[in-house]
Amino acid sequence: MFMIPTLYSEKFLTDYITVDCENPDRISSIFSEIQNIAEFIEPELCEVSDLLLCHSETIIKLVMKDKVVYETARLAAGGAIRAAEIALERPSFALIRPPGHHAGYNFNGGFCFFNNMAIALMNLFSRGFISDALIVDIDLHYGNGTYDIVKEDKRIAFRNIDASTREDFFSQFTEALQDASSFDIVGCSAGFDTYIRDWGSLLFTRDYREMAGMLISGNPHTFVILEGGYYIPDLGINVRSFLEGMQGHCS
Ligand SMILES: [Zn+2]
Repeated sequence: MFMIPTLYSEKFLTDYITVDCENPDRISSIFSEIQNIAEFIEPELCEVSDLLLCHSETIIKLVMKDKVVYETARLAAGGAIRAAEIALERPSFALIRPPGHHAGYNFNGGFCFFNNMAIALMNLFSRGFISDALIVDIDLHYGNGTYDIVKEDKRIAFRNIDASTREDFFSQFTEALQDASSFDIVGCSAGFDTYIRDWGSLLFTRDYREMAGMLISGNPHTFVILEGGYYIPDLGINVRSFLEGMQGHCS
C-alpha cells in the first residue's frame, strides 16, 4: 500500500510562545494516528532567500526576535517546500506547525508567522520546476495571508472555500477543483477546524476522506499542508481519514 510521504519533525512539538489552542498536542495527536499510513521524512530549514520570496525584511526581522519561533517556522516552511517537491512525483503531506495561511507579505497573525504554502510554491517557481499552480484553501478561515502574497501573480489561482453549510462546502470545493488537472501542481491548505466538533461545526470525519479523494483525482501532483484544527481528541482521526482518501486514489 502506498504510504503518504509526510514531512514531520519532533521540533514541531516545540512549545514556542503562541496562543494556547495552537499547541504541540495538535501535532502529536496526528502523528500517533497516522503511523500506519505515513512515511515520515525529516524536513530541512528553508533558506532566508525562500522567506524573502514572500515576505518583507521587516516581518522576517520581527519573527527573528524570538529564536525558537523563528527556527520552528523556518523548519515548517522547509517542510512545505519538500512536500511540494515530492508532489511533482506523488501526493504528499506536510505535518507542520506553526501554520502559515494568515501570514502575508508584510504582516502575520492568526498563529501564523511565515506563509508555508506561498513559500513552497515560490521556491518551485524560482527553480523553474512549475509554471503555474492552484491553491485550494479548505481551512475554516480565509487564507488572507496567502491571498495577499499571490493576488497579483498570474501563475497562481487561489481558491478559498468559505461555506456556512456542509453542502455548500462540497459544492464550492467541487467547483474549485474543476480545472485542477490543468495546473502543474495543486497545493491544499488543509485546516481541520471545519470539523463538526471544532470551531466550524461543518464537516464529519468521513468528509475529509472524500475531499482528499476528490483532490487527488483532480490532480495527483498535490501536496497538502496542515493549517488549523484545534479539536485535539479527533484531530488525529480526521487527518488519518484525509490521508486514507489520498491513499485510496493513488496508483
Ligand atoms: Zn483556521
